[in-house]
Amino acid sequence: MSVVVLTNDDGVHAPGLAALERALAELGDVYVLAPEREQSACGHALTLHRPLRPHRLGERRFAVNGTPSDCVNLAVLGFLPAPPVLVVSGVNHGSNLGDDVTYSGTVAAAMEGTLLGVPSIAVSLVDGGDLDVAARVARLIAMRVLVGGLPAKTLLNVNVPAQPPRGIRLTRLGHRVYLGKVVEQADPRGRSHYWIGGGEPKWDALDGTDMCAVHEGYVSLTPLHLDLTNHRALMELNDWPAGLSAQFLGEARRRPRRGPAAAPTRKPRRG
Ligand code: MN
Repeated sequence: MSVVVLTNDDGVHAPGLAALERALAELGDVYVLAPEREQSACGHALTLHRPLRPHRLGERRFAVNGTPSDCVNLAVLGFLPAPPVLVVSGVNHGSNLGDDVTYSGTVAAAMEGTLLGVPSIAVSLVDGGDLDVAARVARLIAMRVLVGGLPAKTLLNVNVPAQPPRGIRLTRLGHRVYLGKVVEQADPRGRSHYWIGGGEPKWDALDGTDMCAVHEGYVSLTPLHLDLTNHRALMELNDWPAGLSAQFLGEARRRPRRGPAAAPTRKPRRG
């Protein structure tokens, strides 16, 4: 049977992961590699400066002392008996809509799978929703992906509304309206500290966005592309390089050439 990998950013003991595991059990040899503790909003972080030690919790269940992207890296690049045919990340406790996908460890895990050439899906559930419903949606979409594949370098970001879904919509990312400020508070010693991410997010609930679909009670299915290049901007900024190059080369000509690098005056750091 084909290997399917599940991960998340809420940690290996999260109920959302268990729901996904139950729903996808028959789609292949399902392995779970997930962070040993919650890593929400860790983004696409990779652990490169300490060893990763998967800790076996069950026959095909592992807790990893790392991030969701670490888990996918391990799973795809040699830890498992065979490379996976599918990576599913979730079910995240809370939505990952619009601009928020850039912070999400759940979505980053699917990005990592996609970068490594494995079709990948991220699934999130709006607070208060039913995990088993979200897992059933995930199963349907996973089966569709296993049969038909995905476009190149494309992952699916799925968000399930809190109420029973009225259907599934194909969407684009919405945009957050940043109204908030950092919240400044004083500690008992009178020193300031700050909280970011306070207050309810506001959204441009424009037609066709993931935010709009979920708001209207639909599952949003957003294909995300990993080419971050703004192709329209390539046209808009077309004349920048010539001007900048001329300026740079002109400055270089006016500036006297530097001699060999001076010996360091500071003591070199040890270790
Ligand atoms: Mn999370």
